Amino acid sequence: MTSDLLIIGAGPAGARAALRAKACGLSVLLVDENPDAGGQVWRPLPNTFSRRTDAPASAEAQDGDALRRELRQAGIECRFGHKVWNIGSDLRTDVIGPEGSVSWRPKAVLVATGTTERVVPFPGWTLPGVIGLAAATILLKSQNLLPGRRTVVAGSGPLLLAVANGILKAGGEVAAVVDLASRGEWVGTLPSLLGRPDLVRQGAAWQWKLRAAGVPVYYRHAIRSASQVDEGFAIRIGRVDAAGAPVEAPLVELYADAVAVGNGLVPGTDVTRLLRARHRFEGRLGGWIARSDEGGRTSVPGLYIAGDGAGIAGAAAAGAHGEIAALACALDLGTIDQVAYVRERAPLVAQWTRSARFGRAMAGLMALRGGSVEGIAPETIVCRCEDVTRAEIDAAVRDGARDVNQLKAWTRCGMGPCQGRTCGDVAGALVALQAGSREAAGCFTGRAPLRPVSLAEVAGPYTYADIPIPKAAPL
Ligand SMILES: Cc1cc2nc3c(=O)[nH]c(=O)nc-3n(C[C@H](O)[C@H](O)[C@H](O)COP(=O)(O)OP(=O)(O)OC[C@H]3O[C@@H](n4cnc5c(N)ncnc54)[C@H](O)[C@@H]3O)c2cc1C
Repeated sequence: MTSDLLIIGAGPAGARAALRAKACGLSVLLVDENPDAGGQVWRPLPNTFSRRTDAPASAEAQDGDALRRELRQAGIECRFGHKVWNIGSDLRTDVIGPEGSVSWRPKAVLVATGTTERVVPFPGWTLPGVIGLAAATILLKSQNLLPGRRTVVAGSGPLLLAVANGILKAGGEVAAVVDLASRGEWVGTLPSLLGRPDLVRQGAAWQWKLRAAGVPVYYRHAIRSASQVDEGFAIRIGRVDAAGAPVEAPLVELYADAVAVGNGLVPGTDVTRLLRARHRFEGRLGGWIARSDEGGRTSVPGLYIAGDGAGIAGAAAAGAHGEIAALACALDLGTIDQVAYVRERAPLVAQWTRSARFGRAMAGLMALRGGSVEGIAPETIVCRCEDVTRAEIDAAVRDGARDVNQLKAWTRCGMGPCQGRTCGDVAGALVALQAGSREAAGCFTGRAPLRPVSLAEVAGPYTYADIPIPKAAPL
């Protein structure tokens, strides 16, 4: 199949880009590994679930339903349940879906793959029952499941409030909210919220509900350790300073049967790293991001980027960003002219600026804090796929590993099934402590497969006896 534009990711950025690109006369193919459009924020319930008719749908569910309806009405060609696992330099895109392995060769590719969650490791973070904060939103939204009966919600940023309230709404108990930020830091974000009174109202309502439910909130605290006791966890939390470093003070012990913990979001750069696009490090935008111009064009011809994968700015900004990148693509492929481009782009830029102001303030709250990384205890596992501890990372750097790729070769850190999506940012920050900067520590080189795939899926059905066995070379 040939299309002008292949869009990877049907979240707000990718879906809105698809609608705009089609309106500009491009043929579009929208691909996502999820069963439907909506991305992380507007994740739908599975088709097999029926929605209660006596409870009003949340604003997020309504926004998601409206987007999915719009995609259907516009006749956008979509492939859901399809994961992109490889892209070649000619933009040939290899995908695995229910029908097996397929390849497409579009004229342009827009990467709208969103983010992954960052967790600053602590002893016990790999235990079953300790899950990511963002992962908890997936449980709550797509399966109506609670992480546990009684959950400690910890980390940083707005997902703390969203998850704690989601748990209360679904009938669960929140043992405590443990927030890395101070109350003052939250107050400091208020000016950036002025353009979004709806979000100010939502935040205030969430705070009020926590108070009404008697949930204790520990500001400027972080989890020091979680250990299994009986059927749950003993979770020790302690004070931290503004940089996130542990402070000498008595620890508080909490009890719960689940922990949801997250320290912000990291832009998903696996596709742009695989294609060797140029990247730069921007801590306040979430970490490494592909360099791009005002239309989302990366340094690789025909490769565009939009949404949180280009720097964390939130769902509303992601939608506008997707449309801006679609316009640039339509201009480059000649389906619109410069006049139409300038005319249609202006209101989108205004929309993006308004939304990104709020999103960037939230991204600042979620940015990785140097003291949190320095405070990781030596015996703590950092790469959970390959069981690599902080002590092993420090030893490799002391022995001469100059950047994260040498670290990977020496310790297997980042070499497991998640391909460094979980540990990469923290491992880079640990290497940077001795290498001098995040730029010097670098980021993992992108490698296929982008998603875990089996050889059988890639090769299709085969008979073992038919595999040609090369003759031994003559001596
Ligand atoms: C787990 C998680 C939960 C979140 N929950 C919330 C929330 O509840 N509220 C909130 O305001 N913000 C939430 N966020 C942040 C939110 O995702 C963003 O602000 C917003 O959705 C960004 O939109 P986007 O279109 O850039 O990316 P996303 O919405 O993340 O969409 C990216 C899409 O790309 C797809 N994708 C990625 N890689 C591939 C691949 N190789 N092959 C096929 N498909 C691929 C993903 O399945 C996803 O649907 C969450 C983030 C994460 C990581």
